[in-house]
Amino acid sequence: MNSNLTKSQYDRSLIEASMDPLVTINTDGKITDMNEALINATGFSRNKLTGTDFFEYFTEPQKAREVYKTVFSKGSVANSPLTLCDKNGKLTDVLFNGSVYKNEKGEIIGVVIVARDVTEQKRIEKELIEAKESAEKAKEIAEEAKNKAENAVKSKQQFLSNMSHEIRTPMNAIIGFTKVVLKTELTSKQKEYLTAIKISGDALIVLINDILDLAKVDAGKMTFEKIPFKMVNSLSAMIHLFETKIQEKNLTLIKEYDANIPEVMVGDPVRLHQIILNLISNAVKFTNVGSIKISVHLEKEDEKEVIIKFEVEDTGIGISANKIKSIFENFQQASSGTSRLYGGTGLGLAIVKQLVEQQEGKIEVKSDIGKGSTFSFLLTFQKTEDKAVEELDSIELDTKIKNIKVLVVEDIQINQLLMKTLLDDLGFERDIAENGRIAIEKLKNSYYDIILMDLQMPEMNGFETTEYIRKKMDSQIPIIAITADVTTVDLKKCKEVGMNDYIAKPVDERLLNSKILSLLKDKEGKGKNAYESKNKCINLSYLMEITKSNSTLMTEMINAYLEQTPPIIHAMKESLHNQDWPSLHAAVHKIIPSFFIMGISTDFENMAKRVQEYAISRGQNERISDLVHQLESICVQACTELKTELDLIKNAKS
Ligand code: ADP
Repeated sequence: MNSNLTKSQYDRSLIEASMDPLVTINTDGKITDMNEALINATGFSRNKLTGTDFFEYFTEPQKAREVYKTVFSKGSVANSPLTLCDKNGKLTDVLFNGSVYKNEKGEIIGVVIVARDVTEQKRIEKELIEAKESAEKAKEIAEEAKNKAENAVKSKQQFLSNMSHEIRTPMNAIIGFTKVVLKTELTSKQKEYLTAIKISGDALIVLINDILDLAKVDAGKMTFEKIPFKMVNSLSAMIHLFETKIQEKNLTLIKEYDANIPEVMVGDPVRLHQIILNLISNAVKFTNVGSIKISVHLEKEDEKEVIIKFEVEDTGIGISANKIKSIFENFQQASSGTSRLYGGTGLGLAIVKQLVEQQEGKIEVKSDIGKGSTFSFLLTFQKTEDKAVEELDSIELDTKIKNIKVLVVEDIQINQLLMKTLLDDLGFERDIAENGRIAIEKLKNSYYDIILMDLQMPEMNGFETTEYIRKKMDSQIPIIAITADVTTVDLKKCKEVGMNDYIAKPVDERLLNSKILSLLKDKEGKGKNAYESKNKCINLSYLMEITKSNSTLMTEMINAYLEQTPPIIHAMKESLHNQDWPSLHAAVHKIIPSFFIMGISTDFENMAKRVQEYAISRGQNERISDLVHQLESICVQACTELKTELDLIKNAKS
């Protein structure tokens, strides 16, 4: 009896040990026993529960019935999900685990079921799903906002770019023509008025460029070049720009340049100009007595890089301590009277800061009101063994090269007229093509020494045209881009398509002259060897096509070229020497068709035509001997290459 009691107590404690609802049911599905957890979960008393149908306490009784029947038929069931419903309708999610129990004879007399409460787990799961959903939604909203913002920036950028183009085109014409008129004979009053127009125009262009620059910084579109340049030349050319102004204001200019700075370094000279130009221009503007000191020092050096410290120090009006932080912000001036007294827009330093920081540099300012200011910045440059990309500004004008024929590719009439005027003034011959397509036609039919190429044009723009000239026509004629916008990716693109240089509008006459001359000098200096060393000058694909690669025919044609060419070269040189122009014309005439057959660049064919033109005008041209010499070199090189081809054909046959 005692032991029976103990057994029953033992059983109960086992049943109660489960924190999850536990129930036993007989073969009819009636509840026979349960623990406190089940009583709590259902809200009914032990008496009420005992003898009732087990499945009644679930939201899906049918499913509950099937599950317990499965326990009877299979012996057990694991983690079957169901929902318990208490007498007040409160729901508890459970995972249903059960197994049968048997009597001593092994007969099944019921099942024990533990319903594990997973409400909390479910809640967390649900919350997680909801959190994930709302995170996704937030992400979507953020992305949408980002796209909207990006589109807004893009359209702002596009608008600014279009606007600045629209404003700059007429502005450049105004400045350009003012310059042209300024060179004519004028009364002193007229000169004064025109100078005022020009100064205003220059100021407007600076402003438009500043606004565009800032828009680019905002849009993350500011690009930096990495080219080898000579810093000392580049800086002194720029300081030179201020010398007159400094003298006019009776200020002293002090320059310090550390001799330890490597001569050539890699960086972006245009941006460096922009930074220093802004700082010096402020120093000059805000200083009325005393001096302006520009110093450049080597701060740090290792095998690969140098860090350089630039300082612009003035003895001007200074900036008050409470304003010093804000002067680098857009449209901020140190005092409200600054604009009235000194002009300016408060954009310069904002751009300077961006230009320095985007090159991983640092800019600082120290200033004492009434005593002066010192702006200093650090920039890193790479060391290099390369030669500097020549500073075109400092090239001495070589007036020896004359009779240069320029093809101007430009769609806007007013710009065409301006270019014509400038080129006439510089003494160049010129021809105009309204767009790229026309330019290509002209190039096929006549010889030009150099092309000035506008970038934005209808039909075929400057980039497409240059690409066509370089790739399809295989021509190396120098091309200078004429661009209204030197600050964007355009410059990179200019280089990529094969342009040799660029000039910003409004075109500076002196710069245009020096760029044209230096490119032509380059071409003549290097041209002869460029073909000899780098590329093959012949291309036999046309010959192979017409002979259907028949080696006998090809050999015959090549031999004919090798036989006829040396006497023609001789005749060309002789007639040039004797100034026998008709003979020169005839000799060149004989050589022209062979260029096409042997696949020699159309540049040389056009060059030959140019020699003929000069011959007709009886050689009144210093360049004729140069051109004949170039024709000779290319023909000699073609002969050498063709001899090698002949050997290859022979070897292939044997
Ligand atoms: P801006 O010169 O067009 O007004 P900046 O951004 O170049 O715009 O300069 C912002 C302001 O900082 C100026 O308006 C001026 O008040 C102050 N500032 C800049 N450089 C100097 C300087 N060298 N001396 C005194 N004040 C200066």
